[in-house]
Amino acid sequence: PLTQTTPRRVLLKLSGEAFGGGTIGVAPNVVRRIAEEIAVAVDRGVQVAIVVGGGNFFRGAELANNGMDRARADYMGMLGTVMNCLALQDFLEQSGVTTRVQTAIAMGQVAEAYIPLRAIRHLEKGRVVIFGAGAGMPYFSTDTVAVQRLLETGGQEVLMAKNGVDGVYTADPHKDATATKIDVLGYNEALVKGLNVVDSTAFSLCRDNDVRMRVFGMDAPGNVTRALLGEEIGTLVVA
Ligand code: UDP
Repeated sequence: PLTQTTPRRVLLKLSGEAFGGGTIGVAPNVVRRIAEEIAVAVDRGVQVAIVVGGGNFFRGAELANNGMDRARADYMGMLGTVMNCLALQDFLEQSGVTTRVQTAIAMGQVAEAYIPLRAIRHLEKGRVVIFGAGAGMPYFSTDTVAVQRLLETGGQEVLMAKNGVDGVYTADPHKDATATKIDVLGYNEALVKGLNVVDSTAFSLCRDNDVRMRVFGMDAPGNVTRALLGEEIGTLVVA
């Protein structure tokens, strides 16, 4: 019989904050760089699904703290993620990668609806699928959606790209000078110690479904490619 190797399929979560390059809106040079790094891995045969955050536009919790209704503010947050999806789609297409955007909130003029079987089909054909509008539900985060989309599209690993930090630390490295980077971490430990560089809901969904997660920094050039290709950078989180 023919030896059949399963292609590597991963879910890459990109923080919206990184897309903004430190301000509100989209920094084209940053998004172009990320797209080019993704294109290298796609060229090498990795099947890539992506969830993009929206922190460079709105975070529902922050707007709610300033007096807005939380659910409505969360919908604004979700709409922000769609703008990031379109920016990423544009630069990926410019890098020669075929892409589809699927959103959890219907907006037929700009994106397909989220249809899991269709997403899988795109991945099998070597297209990059970008998931927008989160889960379409207030009170969720895009970290959690990343894990859910990985589970539903049958990927092997969820890759959490972070800006400003290159893995999971024993404490917040921006606040505690004694914090050290952890190479391998269990989900329970992350939850008990409140290591919330990734949302606790995302951690517990991974734990309950035995999902592998790699948390890594996307500031260093080449790191997105490295993570997509399976290099052991950052922190591995396991059940
Ligand atoms: N959001 C939501 N439901 C979801 C995903 C996102 O309500 O399923 C909203 C929420 O307000 C969140 C915002 O969209 O603050 C942007 O997403 P997130 O904060 O996860 O982006 P990131 O921090 O990764 O840039």
